[in-house]
Amino acid sequence: MNPSLIVFDLDYTLWDAGETWCDHLNPPFENTAAGPIDSDGRLVRLYDDVREILDWCQQENISMALASRTYEPSWAGKLISMLGIADLFDYKEIFPASKVTHFTNLHEASGIPLNEMLFFDDEMRNIYEVGRMGVTAVFVENGMIIELFEEGLKKWESKQ
Ligand SMILES: [Mg+2]
Repeated sequence: MNPSLIVFDLDYTLWDAGETWCDHLNPPFENTAAGPIDSDGRLVRLYDDVREILDWCQQENISMALASRTYEPSWAGKLISMLGIADLFDYKEIFPASKVTHFTNLHEASGIPLNEMLFFDDEMRNIYEVGRMGVTAVFVENGMIIELFEEGLKKWESKQ
């Protein structure tokens, strides 16, 4: 059995935005062979295992969503498009607020119960707040990796 919805944070979870948060970059962004760069040459790249993880979710027909509290939602949206992953996500909640709001919106938009969701994020406050809502929330220490993703799936399953 799989979660009905898997939700990912962006900064320091799916991508490394030039070793900072994407709202600290300096647009315009330009596409290069390595990926999008900002006007200071800082590269935004998905962590190595991310494409494989997203592909697996797609093959398993698991809905995917983004939950980001960035202060520059339009920049994040542009970068998601430039990285070619925009269409993979059924829901994109990208705005600065507590992630309780993001997940309230996700629940309302999808009709999916919170306990059928699995969430990955690199900030403990988000893990704590969203976990309290009944979502299985997994702390990401150094960007998404396959092992952590599989651990998250097991953790979710053990809570059902
Ligand atoms: Mg983050």
